[in-house]
Amino acid sequence: MFFFFVGGLEQQVRQVLKSRAGRCIACGSRADLVDYDKVLKLFFVPVWRWPGKQPVMYCNDCKLFFPQSLTPPPPSMDGVPDVLRCQFCRREVDGDFRFCPFCGNAL
Ligand SMILES: [Zn+2]
Ligand SMILES: [Zn+2]
Repeated sequence: MFFFFVGGLEQQVRQVLKSRAGRCIACGSRADLVDYDKVLKLFFVPVWRWPGKQPVMYCNDCKLFFPQSLTPPPPSMDGVPDVLRCQFCRREVDGDFRFCPFCGNAL
């Protein structure tokens, strides 16, 4: 169709869901998790706009959109103790245990 040659499809940030949720896959700086709109432009004028299906990552430095699955988890997730809850007695058990020390059931 003709107008695809004079227009274009763009992605625009609608709302930042979580700032600094990950790292940019291109430049390595902090990237935000955002809701975005797809915008169809015709002669540089937006003519059609519809929301993206799922949140994506957006880098402010290089203006890059990329799927959340490509970014490694943020560093704040590291060092969280591995706590498990026994499904039989509901007590918290260290993640290294194979059997619950309180009730003896397999975890
Ligand atoms: Zn970047
Ligand atoms: Zn137990």
